[in-house]
Amino acid sequence: MAGKPAKQKHVPQRTCVGCRTVLAKRTLTRVVRQPDGVVIDPTGKMNGRGAYVHDQKSCWERALKGALANGLKTTLSPDDRHKLELYMSSLPADPAPSSADIGYSDAQA
Ligand SMILES: [Zn+2]
Repeated sequence: MAGKPAKQKHVPQRTCVGCRTVLAKRTLTRVVRQPDGVVIDPTGKMNGRGAYVHDQKSCWERALKGALANGLKTTLSPDDRHKLELYMSSLPADPAPSSADIGYSDAQA
């Protein structure tokens, strides 16, 4: 009975509603449905139905197009949408797809 994989620390994982990728919770922003609308929950501790979105503009765009409302089983009011758009606009743009992000080493000696 050998062959058990090495033990790993449990890291909470969540699915981004934008790209459906499962990621460590800390790289995602939680959005919570409240009785009076949808709010961003930076602490991740608010009560209510939550959905997670990547800190990435493209994912927020998709989320706002319906994925988020779906995940929260609600519809976004114009107000909610505005709030989320504001949040989205504060995020850095997605990195360009092909520029060197290999960050391998900065061996420049
Ligand atoms: Zn995503």
